[in-house]
Amino acid sequence: MFILKLNKMTISKSLFAVLLTLMSITYTQAQTKVIAHRGAWKTQNLPQNSIASLNHAIELGCYGAEFDVHLTKDDILVVNHDKDFYGIDIETSTYEVLLAIKHPNGESNPTLEEYLNEGGKQNKTRLVLELKTSSISKERTLKAVDMCVKMVKKLNVKDLVDYIFFDYDAGKLVRKLNPQAEVAYLNGDVSPAQAKKDGYTGIDYHFNVYKKNPDWIKEAHTNGLSVNAWTVNTEEEMLNLIKQNVEFITTDEPELLLNLLNKP
Ligand code: MG
Repeated sequence: MFILKLNKMTISKSLFAVLLTLMSITYTQAQTKVIAHRGAWKTQNLPQNSIASLNHAIELGCYGAEFDVHLTKDDILVVNHDKDFYGIDIETSTYEVLLAIKHPNGESNPTLEEYLNEGGKQNKTRLVLELKTSSISKERTLKAVDMCVKMVKKLNVKDLVDYIFFDYDAGKLVRKLNPQAEVAYLNGDVSPAQAKKDGYTGIDYHFNVYKKNPDWIKEAHTNGLSVNAWTVNTEEEMLNLIKQNVEFITTDEPELLLNLLNKP
């Protein structure tokens, strides 16, 4: 009888241990999420960073849509990747001048306000805001940071927006202005431990940076930072990063990555 009782205890302890192991596997292998780089534009031939590319990323069910922001001469935040909108330099032009040219799909250069209002109509796909560093001055970069944070607050999309920056001080400023914000650093020249110390919640580095610093993904996770990698467009690199349990992959090929992740 005593032996039987002991065996039962041993069995239930073993079952408990198996359960714990399964739980930890589920936890550590949380699925990598898809971030559409400049929206989802490639397969549909949509303009990058357009409202149409944002909406397509949402339709595909991407975890996030990444987009780039610049400040015009007359202090309007607009969404575009390059420093120029079809040849018109954004930082030295007024918004009205930018309106003279349209994207090939007929859209005007979206303002940040228009873009966030569109993204705010849903709550599944996160809006990953990259503020581009000003070519004019650090002051102008930090002024644009302040304006972005205020705009996000005003439009009531605080819970939907994450921030990424190449300018290290810009990310630190966002965390000061909104301590709840998720902020990742892009430039790849700061260790995860240092980024954590400086208030960042994640690193978002070019995938080659993780190859050159093979400990950084683990170091980030140990420090409680999320890991994103850009811009990952091949199946081989995607699988390599998924295997390392990165939280996010930013890609021009969201359909390819979604298919890979949904394969049984
Ligand atoms: Mg970007």
